[in-house]
Amino acid sequence: MAYDSDNIFAKILRGEIPCTKVYEDEHALAFEDINPQAPIHVLVIPKGAYVSMDDFAAEASDAEITGFFRAVGTVARELGVAAPGYRMLANHGVNGGQEVPHFHVHIFGGKKLGPMLKRD
Ligand code: 5GP
Repeated sequence: MAYDSDNIFAKILRGEIPCTKVYEDEHALAFEDINPQAPIHVLVIPKGAYVSMDDFAAEASDAEITGFFRAVGTVARELGVAAPGYRMLANHGVNGGQEVPHFHVHIFGGKKLGPMLKRD
């Protein structure tokens, strides 16, 4: 799947759409989810143009991957959720329910989050 540079997170990265930023460095931007599913719900995205977890894992450089995941850890610590605990989630593709085609990790926290997956 080709990267769509008009996706909403690409626009946020370019500053064309506002976000509530919580962290930024060379490799990553973190901002509050517009429709939070937990008391703390933050999205962390790489600055490079990667469609999904699969694309990122296959195509990103070692420096981008290291920088991104270090940023995820930093964001969680700075949000204060590392000690009490949190959930990190990446939806990939149709079965994963991915809506925005720019790789992103969700950080959920601020309460006990319950079962990992919704049961049918
Ligand atoms: P996905 O299902 O792709 O893993 O999650 C996409 C997430 O992006 C959803 O949780 C949704 O609420 C969030 N989102 C969609 N559009 C925007 C937006 O314009 N701004 C922000 N901050 N979050 C968004």
